[in-house]
Amino acid sequence: MTKLSTFYERTEKMSKNPKIPHPNYELLMEKTLQRLAAAGQRPRLLLHACCAPCSSATLERLAAAFEVTILYYNPNIAPPAEYHRREAELERFVRDAGYAARGVAVVELPYDPQEFYTAVQGLEAEPERGARCTVCYRLRLEQAARYAAAHGFGWFTTTLSISPMKDPVRLNTIGCELGERYGVQYLQSEFRKKDGYKRSLVLSEQYGLYRQEYCGCAFSKAEREAQAARRAAEAKGEHHAE
Ligand code: SF4
Repeated sequence: MTKLSTFYERTEKMSKNPKIPHPNYELLMEKTLQRLAAAGQRPRLLLHACCAPCSSATLERLAAAFEVTILYYNPNIAPPAEYHRREAELERFVRDAGYAARGVAVVELPYDPQEFYTAVQGLEAEPERGARCTVCYRLRLEQAARYAAAHGFGWFTTTLSISPMKDPVRLNTIGCELGERYGVQYLQSEFRKKDGYKRSLVLSEQYGLYRQEYCGCAFSKAEREAQAARRAAEAKGEHHAE
């Protein structure tokens, strides 16, 4: 059974309680971008990315302010065909949208799903956005922080905060904690704000991007399939009752 530390339990409570105010991550990011622009700086940033649609609007926000390198490290994604499909689509988007020509590279780390299964052991039955996701965020962000530190990046962040299904409080809290530990600044963000999520839908349409039906892991896939089956059964029931 994976043990969550008190720190994460506290963070989860905070993120689930709307009465506890949390920082305006979008504003914090905007201030950082303005500060860098005023200083005439364009530092190197490692952007952990989960897929092409989430990278699309995120890159649009960051490419002018940072020299971006994308890190594709997602051992949570299952099955393997889905993992490779998302990676190929990300590469295609970076190329087709002209980011590759502007120096944005995609680094893919070795895919070992066992890293994810070991990390979330005991949390398999958690719903999406539950404790399993906290561990999953941390697994991926820690690899990004480690890679950023080892390769001389001044900053790192993740595309994950563009999704309405992801928890910005946990993502930013974990990111900052890891940033301190590895000596790399974490760019706090909530990319879905300022219509970021809507913009990702527009760009997905424009570039014909593959948009997946589930978050990524086998458990989220099963959850979505069960929801779809329930909805279909309900619709059928309603139809018969008419
Ligand atoms: S639902 Fe998404 S964030 Fe949560 S554990 Fe699965 S892949 Fe990770």
